[in-house]
Amino acid sequence: MRYGRIVTCACGCKETGVNAGFGYVAACYDRWKRAGRPKEGPPPRRDYQPRPPWNPVQDRSKALLEDYQFLTRQGVTDIDMLADRLGCSTRHVWRLVQAARALDQSREKAGAR
Ligand SMILES: [Zn+2]
Repeated sequence: MRYGRIVTCACGCKETGVNAGFGYVAACYDRWKRAGRPKEGPPPRRDYQPRPPWNPVQDRSKALLEDYQFLTRQGVTDIDMLADRLGCSTRHVWRLVQAARALDQSREKAGAR
């Protein structure tokens, strides 16, 4: 197999990589091919969309969020301590932080009416 040269992408995205064809890097070449090989080159890259925050759906998750809110009202704000008390990972505590913040914001909006 012959590998392509290292190129700066011909589409103008400033990406450098292996030439996947016509001077485009793989991501742009695939996008171009998928778009039906238009003469003007690949369509622009899609903007990065951040994922929506974690939202508790299960009863267990809702209970955990309530426990989190209770503990923070008691003044427990240390992430490691919260993870220990709630019996979940620190990563999940960060999800709870986000979810609680989103809840507070929606409550403020409702209260402002
Ligand atoms: Zn490109």
